[in-house]
Amino acid sequence: MQEITWNNHNIPIVYKSSLRVKRISLRLSPKELAFILTHPPRTHHRQLQHFLDQCGPWIKQQLEKLTDVPSLHPGTILSLYGEDFECIHDPLRRKPALCQETKTLHLPPKFSQKDLHSLFKKIAHEKLLPLLYKVVETLGQKVEKVSFRDSKTRWGSCSGRKTISLNWRLVFLPPEVGHYVCAHEAAHLLHMNHSKAFWKVVEGICPAYKKHRKWLKVNGSAWMRF
Ligand SMILES: [Zn+2]
Repeated sequence: MQEITWNNHNIPIVYKSSLRVKRISLRLSPKELAFILTHPPRTHHRQLQHFLDQCGPWIKQQLEKLTDVPSLHPGTILSLYGEDFECIHDPLRRKPALCQETKTLHLPPKFSQKDLHSLFKKIAHEKLLPLLYKVVETLGQKVEKVSFRDSKTRWGSCSGRKTISLNWRLVFLPPEVGHYVCAHEAAHLLHMNHSKAFWKVVEGICPAYKKHRKWLKVNGSAWMRF
């Protein structure tokens, strides 16, 4: 399989032959973390390679976009737990706030990072806590305490005292990746290591965990900077 190496990660190029297309096209699937090259049947491999060679600058641009962390200003679209919110300027507010009905994130003229972070932390609580408890229950386990941390290096952790910490920045990631992190930490209630048995438990809850792990490795560090 052909791959594109970027940031020490190999991103595969998946070739798809289709009777419905007349031209060669390339797209990046952020979900699958792969480039999909669609082409008419019986296209010569040399032709495909030539097409790919020409796409170099476009490929680079797409990969940069993938890990782009938005800065919040009016007009920015921020994805929060799989839902898009548009940032709007709101002079009537003193603290950033989320409006579910209009899918907007209201930004006052002046606000502190701390206020913004507490808002995201609250969303993390609402979205991830029930999910984590559900996974813990599925495993027949009990968790003593769950906290949401402001870590720049870890997405989650689990202690021997059965306390779990989750990073509130998980709200920015696709929900399925958040689910994987919950499954990972909950599985540590059974195995305090990364043994084969541990990964079996993770797989039981989250069958596509390998894909989500890879997603985190490629994109995670960018979101940690938020
Ligand atoms: Zn772990």
